[in-house]
Amino acid sequence: MLRVLFVSSEGVPFVKTGGLADVVGSLSKALFDKGIDIRVIMPLYGTISLELKSKMIYKRNIYVRLGWRNQYCGIFECKLDGVIFYFIDNEYYFKREKIYGFFDEAERYAFFCKAVLESLPYTGFEPDVIHCHDWQTGLIPVFLEAYCRCREYYKNVRTLFTIHNLKYQGIFPKTILNELLNLSDDYFTPDKLEFNGCVNFMKGGIIYSNLLTTVSPTYSKEIQTEYYGEKLDGVLKARSSDLFGILNGIDYDEYDPETDKLIFQNYSIGHIEKKTENKIKLQNELGLDVSPNIPIIAMISRLTPQKGIDIIISMLDEIVSCGLELVILGTGEREYEESFTSAKDKYPSRVSSNIKFDETLAHNIYAGADLFLMPSCFEPCGLGQMIALRYGTLPIVRETGGLKDTVISYNEFTMQGNGFSFTNYNGHDMVYTIKRALNFYNDKKVWNSIIANAMLCNFSWNASADKYIKLYEKLIGF
Ligand code: ADP
Repeated sequence: MLRVLFVSSEGVPFVKTGGLADVVGSLSKALFDKGIDIRVIMPLYGTISLELKSKMIYKRNIYVRLGWRNQYCGIFECKLDGVIFYFIDNEYYFKREKIYGFFDEAERYAFFCKAVLESLPYTGFEPDVIHCHDWQTGLIPVFLEAYCRCREYYKNVRTLFTIHNLKYQGIFPKTILNELLNLSDDYFTPDKLEFNGCVNFMKGGIIYSNLLTTVSPTYSKEIQTEYYGEKLDGVLKARSSDLFGILNGIDYDEYDPETDKLIFQNYSIGHIEKKTENKIKLQNELGLDVSPNIPIIAMISRLTPQKGIDIIISMLDEIVSCGLELVILGTGEREYEESFTSAKDKYPSRVSSNIKFDETLAHNIYAGADLFLMPSCFEPCGLGQMIALRYGTLPIVRETGGLKDTVISYNEFTMQGNGFSFTNYNGHDMVYTIKRALNFYNDKKVWNSIIANAMLCNFSWNASADKYIKLYEKLIGF
């Protein structure tokens, strides 16, 4: 049986700030269902609910050398839906009021990477493959080569590094190399960890892993270009033959309009009229004008430049004047939060801005809205549009990354397509596309046929999990 360890800084249901957590939670489950001995290791954050903490069992503690210090590392374990999760405990690093955004991120995640490698032999689990996710785990393949290969336990371990978002790389001053990572200056060259005079964790993961993946085929090509490459395009191009784009899936049990317990009225493709009951409830709850005939366009997202918030804010009046209702759910940069709050004050019955993280409201929006807006300037995969498709809420997206791989713009001549899209990152093109979608909204026969196309798409993990298994097999055949 193939033994795989996921290393991640977040994972559903324990902690989530974005799509990475969803992927770790749902892909691990899908791999388990396919007979892989999959385990996940992550930090024991203070924000994990007491209910979940009460399910964890303390295994033992060890001390991990970091710089000149020896740091405490507790090891906990818990089993959920068959998947075993391990947790690295150190209250100084991880018992904080949020999970990211501190002055000592380099130290926190350098500790995490080292602690993972030092703890593993004590778990009793011997992975064939260590599958690392995003920059927080980028030092694992580096430490593995630098410190561990000589030990019997690590001799044959292979590594896979998945880039979920190239924008976040973990770039820190050079001083950490010796002081924190205990690595010599030999590692500070452009073909290793050096990046513009700094140390780059993600670059370490890219260079030292046996194979690489990213979360959609289009993004895997895009990041090898200067425009999307975030200054790592050269390094990625050099590893082009080891880089694979595997589309993320979504958890089809969690996101199922037929059984979703968080939504007001369950519905299916055969009874799409019931979706309207969710819409009326949503309009009532959010204080919007209540009518089944007013289209709702929604956005559920981190409010960061990546997500195309600038073009939405610059075209807000035009969007509202299309005669629709705009529902926003998200948190992020303060300037964006304030713009959406003012838009709500300006159009109280037409705009609803919900500046918070709220899982229940998210499900109710996916179920109650008509359209889902994702005009991202780049998008590694994007889960929002896939969830929206599952709920028959038609996505309007910019053609980039995973959005391009999942949304096919409706073609009125062939009647094919599951949503609407535009090519250039431009507010006018976006508004034009919203207007184009609304033209079809008024023809219920056509509209329902596009909804059917959307709901019939399959973005479950089944096919993608198989692709990961193929790569794991390729790795151990090395
Ligand atoms: P990213 O990983 O870049 O943040 P994705 O589209 O891949 O974007 O994943 C975002 C996930 O987080 C989706 O499941 C989305 O529904 C959820 N999400 C984002 N913001 C919120 C929020 N404010 N409240 C609830 N869920 C949210």
